[in-house]
Amino acid sequence: MALKPRILLVEDESGIADTLQYVLSTDGFAPVWASTAEDAIRLFSAELPALAVLDVGLPDLNGFELFRRLQALPGGNQVPMLFLTARSDEIDRVVGLELGADDYIAKPFSPRELVARVRTILRRSARPIATTTPAPAMPTSAPPIWALDEERHQIRFYGKALELSRYEYGVLRLLVQKPGRVFTRDELLLQVWGGDNDSFDRTVDAHIKTLRAKLKLVAPGHDPIRTLRGSGYALSEELPATPT
Ligand code: CA
Repeated sequence: MALKPRILLVEDESGIADTLQYVLSTDGFAPVWASTAEDAIRLFSAELPALAVLDVGLPDLNGFELFRRLQALPGGNQVPMLFLTARSDEIDRVVGLELGADDYIAKPFSPRELVARVRTILRRSARPIATTTPAPAMPTSAPPIWALDEERHQIRFYGKALELSRYEYGVLRLLVQKPGRVFTRDELLLQVWGGDNDSFDRTVDAHIKTLRAKLKLVAPGHDPIRTLRGSGYALSEELPATPT
């Protein structure tokens, strides 16, 4: 029987922690609770969890600082981390994501929603995509579906280098880094255009349109960018290993 994935839960409010421990354990996970950052650091090394859920407001360190410290521990940068934030201002969220955290969830949230998010992240992290350093050649030597070269500002799709404008690159880079994650138009505007005041939602849509056209030249039978009506865009996780 497979071991239950250990989830490190760092939350100082015992009421929230109890509820989350309960839903996580009834859903097949083995939660490990820490109420302070200090406990979290100790438990992280002892347990090496499959994923960590970090409350941003902790009594001893804030969740962002804790995130940095956990990442610096042996194996720490391999463990996906999800932030819990009580403050709804966008800055917290963006800071969280720019640190390289895997996701965030704003309080109040439903415990079921958190469990669903944990599942998605674990499923996603089990299928890593190639980044700057290409994976060792597989026996079949098929190129990875996506390869991101941040130094050259280049993205390869099924092994073909795409000719992208600065903003097309910026948008696709975000999507490729987190397949399946939904980016709202506002998030894309802020992260790619830097919140330029004369940019509009239409700007994002126009760039998605030209991106799709370029991707279609490589894989005519597929649309790798999903549109989620009313919410935004996400990279499809359903692409075949070779284009058809
Ligand atoms: Ca708290």
